Amino acid sequence: MGAKQQDSGDESIRRRTFGAAESVADFEARLADVRALIGAAAARAGRDASQVRLLPVSKTVPQERLRNAHAAGITHMAENKVQEAQRKSREMADLDLTWAIIGHLQTNKAKDVAEFATEFQALDSLKLAEALERRLEGFDRSLDVLVQVNTSRESSKTGLAPEDVEDFIKALPQFSRLNVRGFMTMAPFSADPARVRQSFAELRGLRDRAREYAPEGMDLSELSMGMSGDFELAIEEGATVVRVGQAIFGSRSYPA
Ligand SMILES: *Cc1c(COP(=O)(O)O)cnc(C)c1O
Repeated sequence: MGAKQQDSGDESIRRRTFGAAESVADFEARLADVRALIGAAAARAGRDASQVRLLPVSKTVPQERLRNAHAAGITHMAENKVQEAQRKSREMADLDLTWAIIGHLQTNKAKDVAEFATEFQALDSLKLAEALERRLEGFDRSLDVLVQVNTSRESSKTGLAPEDVEDFIKALPQFSRLNVRGFMTMAPFSADPARVRQSFAELRGLRDRAREYAPEGMDLSELSMGMSGDFELAIEEGATVVRVGQAIFGSRSYPA
């Protein structure tokens, strides 16, 4: 069983636990480990690892440790809560760090995201797109965005229903400050790798179709899918961005 777990990106990985990374050397080692797993998953899929961006998810990790992560080479960090991200961006304003917001956003928080984030991965309503556009105008900024799709159809998950994606994408060119880059999804919370894989494959299929109806000039190449428990599966299914928290920073003591 041990050997099988080592070979496969499938069965075992969701149950891994990770000790806390503290020092710069810890982070260097974790990043090397994760990059090796990314490389192996890409190779299994006949892909080049350079097509997969590693997005470190720093939620719940305090500033002191994030400074060491930065010293180990991390310059772009992702958080799911805007307040926490904005506080950290201020605390570490002395570093050349940029921020991605990857969690569901209330319209009344659009201003905060528009002010400091460079990337937003959970766009799922026109109302929110409108609010972001207006606030970005105020700050004279623009924002890379991914459209979040609820491929698992779990009612607890946010994101657009797959059947609503086409109309949504076609409505986005009116928002000139949103650079729409592709799609994001979260897999079902399931220990069954087949279900997880299916959710990733669905997002890829949806992206491939979207490229055909995409408005002129909109490049929908990005697929953000896969977290610490399932990023290897996601890479095998075409992920171009993997959002990895615990495998870099250490296990969180409560569920995400
Ligand atoms: C927390 C989170 C992740 C990362 O999960 P890990 O298990 O820490 O790798 C990825 N995406 C979203 C939207 C998250 O909230």
